[in-house]
Amino acid sequence: MGSREVTDWQGKRVTVAGLGVSGVPAAKVLHGLGATVTVVNDGDDERARAQAAELEALGVTVRLGDGATLPDGTELIVTAPGWQPDKPLFTAAREAGVEIWGDVELAWRLRRPDSAPWLCVTGTNGKTTTVQMLASILKAAGLRTAAVGNIGVSLLDAVLGDEEYDVLAVELSSYQLHWAPSLRAHSAAVLNLAPDHLDWHGSMEAYARDKGRVYEGNRVACVYNVADKATEDLVREADVEEGCRAIGFTLGTPAPSQLGVVEGILVDRAFVEDRHKNAQELAEVADVDPPAPHNIANALAAAALARAFGVPPQAVRDGLRAFRPDAHRIAHVADVAGVAYVDDSKATNTHAAEASLAAYESIVWIAGGLAKGATFDELVARSAKRLRGAVLIGADRALIREALARHAPEVPVVDLDRTDTGAMLAAVQEARRLAEPGDTVLLAPACASMDMFVNYNKRGDAFAAAVRELEAGA
Ligand code: ADP
Repeated sequence: MGSREVTDWQGKRVTVAGLGVSGVPAAKVLHGLGATVTVVNDGDDERARAQAAELEALGVTVRLGDGATLPDGTELIVTAPGWQPDKPLFTAAREAGVEIWGDVELAWRLRRPDSAPWLCVTGTNGKTTTVQMLASILKAAGLRTAAVGNIGVSLLDAVLGDEEYDVLAVELSSYQLHWAPSLRAHSAAVLNLAPDHLDWHGSMEAYARDKGRVYEGNRVACVYNVADKATEDLVREADVEEGCRAIGFTLGTPAPSQLGVVEGILVDRAFVEDRHKNAQELAEVADVDPPAPHNIANALAAAALARAFGVPPQAVRDGLRAFRPDAHRIAHVADVAGVAYVDDSKATNTHAAEASLAAYESIVWIAGGLAKGATFDELVARSAKRLRGAVLIGADRALIREALARHAPEVPVVDLDRTDTGAMLAAVQEARRLAEPGDTVLLAPACASMDMFVNYNKRGDAFAAAVRELEAGA
């Protein structure tokens, strides 16, 4: 198929790689367009069989238990974003000159010519929050919009469904960007770049390159983080439309062409007349929930994208005021005996945990779980002065304990030698013992949860339940 546009789907032989969240709807849509669809899937479990039966009833061919072999005559592969680029299926496809699209690329190619522009957000952390803030701001401006992509409405539904949109707030993961070669956003933001998913991408360079794809072909603005030079470098390397601007966001005073903070006010020095002399007030820091530094950064990025789309300042303020974060993202659970208990179970990597720890002055830190190959020295060294104590749980807690011993030997550490579900209650009780009035007990594990819990939601729920138990007994 080479680089030729696929406009006529009738009889095209398309292989969908992977059942699941993106594969099943993709197979249905392609089948509906007249393509001859074969789905290949590594697994052959009960769930896969049920999904296969549903698709087969429509006339789609499904091969379970064999995701490696390229079906004969394949003209295009549409892959689940998580499938690693070095899979044998893709090697075979490349050798045969077969194009590979991800779910985002498929949605992009199938969108109607007059469809809503995309404002895209990627980054290691803060994507969901920022996209939700952005959607809230766009709504406050009276625009028809939705937060789509990695969250909420699927992109395929958004571009093919009956609902009409003026603009879409799109969250994109590095995997999705890897498989979306022709995506061209109205404007896009890379919030930050820290090592994550390197096993998938192969190297930090490859990970950064995939994130940077979000800027390719931007029409109006490439939004970057002034405090994270790697994001600015990606803007510089991107090939954009004539006239597209680089817009920075900073927690400090903004330079021209930046958004930033001046005396507790979020200000815009980018989308104003005569930006060398003028600045526009957008909102107050107190309008952002929670007003933690990293979250102000998210709000500035969302504001920059909204302003690039022409949204008035008032709507930025109203949209930020209306925004409430999802559960388990710096959620204040309760105050017990003068100590605040905060659930940031979503801090599943060290970069997120560091942002979380930076938001409080004196912390009893509950951490641990599955490290996913991470190291904790930098995180602990930079956060040591804020730690009243630490309580460690989970499979890889020794890695954190060792980092604490190296960089914060004076900080008391309780190493709970447990990975059972009751361990969270014990952890919260230990944390309470270490905490003093005015402190924050912060669950910011810096690790994945699956050694002890089904997911980070359940981990956060267990923390909240444990805090409620303290409260009841207090
Ligand atoms: P994502 O969708 O990228 O996973 P979320 O908005 O769900 O991001 O936030 C995930 C976690 O990352 C939060 O629990 C918070 O601790 C942390 N976080 C959010 N925004 C930022 C940021 N701008 N920089 C660093 N960490 C952040």
